[in-house]
Amino acid sequence: MTFPSPEGATPAMAQWFALKAEHPDALLFFRMGDFYELFFNDAEAAAAALDISLTARGTHGGEPIAMCGVPVHAAQAYLARLIRRGFRVSVAEQTEQPRKGRPASKGPLRREVVRLITPGTLTEDELLEAGRQNLLAAIICPTGRDASDPGLAWIDISTGLFETATVPARDLNDLLGRLDPAEILCADNVDLGDFAGRRTPIVPPASADAARQRMAEAFGVASPDAFGTFSDAEAMAAAAAIDYIRRSQAGQLPRLSHPRPSDSSDILGLDPATRASLDLLRTRDGETEHTLFAAVSRTVTAAGSRMLADWIAAPLTDPERIARRQAGWVWLLDKPGIRDDLRASLRAAPDMARALGRLSLGRGQPRDAVAIRLAIGVAREIGTILNRHDTLPLIMEQAARHLDRAHELQDLLARALSENPPARMDDGGIIASGYDAELDAQRELRDGSRRVIAALQQEYATEFGVPNLKIRHHAQLGYVIEVPAAASARLRGREDLIMRQGTASASRFSTERLVSLDQQIAQAAENAGLRERHLFTQVVGRILDETALPDMAAALSCIDIAQSCAMLAGGGMWCCPAVGTDTSFVIRAGRHPVVEAALPKNARFTPNDCDLEPDHRVMLLTGPNMAGKSTFLRQTALAVILAQAGLPVSAQAMRIGVVDRLFSRVGASDDLARGRSTFMVEMTETAAILNQAGPRSLVVVDEIGRGTSTLDGLAIAWAVLETLHSTLRCRAIFATHFHELAELADSMPRLSPHTMSVREWKGQVIFQHEVIPGSARRSWGVHVARLAGVPEPVVRRAGRLLSMLEKERGRQAPPLPLFEQASPDMPEEPEAPALPPAAMDMIAELDPDALSPRTALEMLYKLKKLLKP
Ligand code: ATP
Repeated sequence: MTFPSPEGATPAMAQWFALKAEHPDALLFFRMGDFYELFFNDAEAAAAALDISLTARGTHGGEPIAMCGVPVHAAQAYLARLIRRGFRVSVAEQTEQPRKGRPASKGPLRREVVRLITPGTLTEDELLEAGRQNLLAAIICPTGRDASDPGLAWIDISTGLFETATVPARDLNDLLGRLDPAEILCADNVDLGDFAGRRTPIVPPASADAARQRMAEAFGVASPDAFGTFSDAEAMAAAAAIDYIRRSQAGQLPRLSHPRPSDSSDILGLDPATRASLDLLRTRDGETEHTLFAAVSRTVTAAGSRMLADWIAAPLTDPERIARRQAGWVWLLDKPGIRDDLRASLRAAPDMARALGRLSLGRGQPRDAVAIRLAIGVAREIGTILNRHDTLPLIMEQAARHLDRAHELQDLLARALSENPPARMDDGGIIASGYDAELDAQRELRDGSRRVIAALQQEYATEFGVPNLKIRHHAQLGYVIEVPAAASARLRGREDLIMRQGTASASRFSTERLVSLDQQIAQAAENAGLRERHLFTQVVGRILDETALPDMAAALSCIDIAQSCAMLAGGGMWCCPAVGTDTSFVIRAGRHPVVEAALPKNARFTPNDCDLEPDHRVMLLTGPNMAGKSTFLRQTALAVILAQAGLPVSAQAMRIGVVDRLFSRVGASDDLARGRSTFMVEMTETAAILNQAGPRSLVVVDEIGRGTSTLDGLAIAWAVLETLHSTLRCRAIFATHFHELAELADSMPRLSPHTMSVREWKGQVIFQHEVIPGSARRSWGVHVARLAGVPEPVVRRAGRLLSMLEKERGRQAPPLPLFEQASPDMPEEPEAPALPPAAMDMIAELDPDALSPRTALEMLYKLKKLLKP
């Protein structure tokens, strides 16, 4: 955006130019009385984005100055809209109060930017999504010959969460996909993939030492090593994030948790393409309905939703930790009474983490302090419910330990805060009477004088002989006697009355006594207000000193998830999966939770088994369009995510060996914006799988090779299938329209062909959505075209052409060069000597490091035996 030069600006506009220069890329909300005004290009951009009228105010350089404004009391709603549209906003407040008699020659009132509002630095409930984290991430990618891995730091200032990680460059996008940061501080030359639109230029610290110093200062420790080991890049990212937050909050740093280095190796690997294909927390359109989260969440608190979203975004790979999470909700399954009690209590729990976040930034309102009081009360209540039981599962026991704490603070808040405090600080009445003698005295003075005034009204009415005389408070005049115009003549001559105002209907007078009482009241009210602010600040200080609160908030969220899972699984259609360390994989009667929930009332979801046990770990799935292949693929991937997140799975039973990386490629996507065709995207994603999947991975892919000619496509699909089966040896479901591939089962011992069952009845195709052993003979594409409403003549013509082509193909043998040797024009791979499958298995299962010399020798003998014809 370009702005005119400040030269020749009026004093007020010169101030605007100076403040605008502090954050040139942000819209400046410039406080003028009850409005935030925007000028020049800012005004044009905001008026268009907010659909408010654009006006003009004065001129600059001979041109009218474009202006628009939003009222202060409604500013949050406008801010929310601007932030959602990708704007950044800096807010300049009047930091000097207008005083009577201030000469105009002193220039405009002092104003200062008190805050920069960006997507990653929000704290207000109105601007935040209650059930989602709002992260600011910072990335440092070291360059040069000996460059180390990129370092990341991410902070949610609304709750204080602060974590860091060092990841290989190729995993950067996976981590961003998991975190889904609202804003990313990053240098221009780092490829952020789909997150490029969230980039804010980073200002890195001068060196890793400077970064460590900055981290240490922020937390008042000698060195950040006190919190764990941070790589140089990680420390620099953390310091850059801290600096940015401090700058956005006009120098103030909110209370943040100690930075925690996190280890991605104990989290299920999910790349962005996998996340995009599974609609975990949002659909591709950014909606939250019809997502896995929406289908499984029965949480009742916003903080519980945030934690559940985090669990779904980052499933675990350690069976023990998974089992610990499961034990919490399984314990509640047969205790509906406790579940109901927990839900009822949790419903009353306010969002403690976010209230704490605002209080720590000095942006807390009375309701935030009240939220803390209520939340401690709820936590105690829940602690009592749990502690009635002698044997709690570990996760509940740990949570219970954090719940029954902060008693002193609770007592203090109960004494200090009034029962129904006002919404805003300025309204007064936050501190309860009886808490502070000085405040009570000022209030007594203020209220006592008010009572005196009320009594005076009667006295004056009698004395002046005007029965309907009133004493009223007037914004400009203070307390005045008000009499109807008809009675004013009677009062005008009196020396003890001072005429203040006369209108057609009423006259207003004051007396010396009234003036002095007015001053007394104003003074006492001001003193009471000041005292109250001071006391509130003290109370907030006590809240922030209480170290038990963040753990208490986390414990409440954990209990919320446990009850949510128990509610879900209590319906009987969900199971607690067994997750172990082997490579087994069986799901009995699995369902797709989102598709099932979206089916019309009279439709029933057909459950399906999925068996990828080691001796047939690659399923080749053929079948027509619309028969349910994609649904089956996705439900299998979702079951893994739910299982490893420690949540219930929509199946009758499930037993799997933990999956280290999950790849899901279901549903076409192109990326024309980044210049990649559908086929290019498909191949890039295929390459990503083939380069990363291993024996513990699960791959579910739909229609590889679809975006090119039939022969090219078939050749690619074939080669990929072979690699999954024999080289990567992962568990996989490979859905395809190349039915011919099913015949490869003869040469691939662990390939199990399956198909979607279809019935034909009176010329109609009926999809049964059932996965059965075998392979499809045909695709039914022409039938699906009819279902979709393709004009009948086109469908009939396609039908005739299909039979012609099928006959034609029947005459050629073999139909496709499937079982020939590689064709002469293809470069041939050097032929590897074929090993019998049993020998391959044996080698694959071998862990050389764990073998004693003797067992190794025995193995060799066995292998040799297997090689004998
Ligand atoms: P395409 O190849 O065209 O993508 P597909 O075989 O992958 O088709 P899906 O998209 O999985 O088919 O399913 C089509 C529709 O069938 C779904 O939207 C859903 O309404 C229904 N469906 C799928 N699976 C089931 C099931 N197991 N039970 C009931 N209905 C199902």
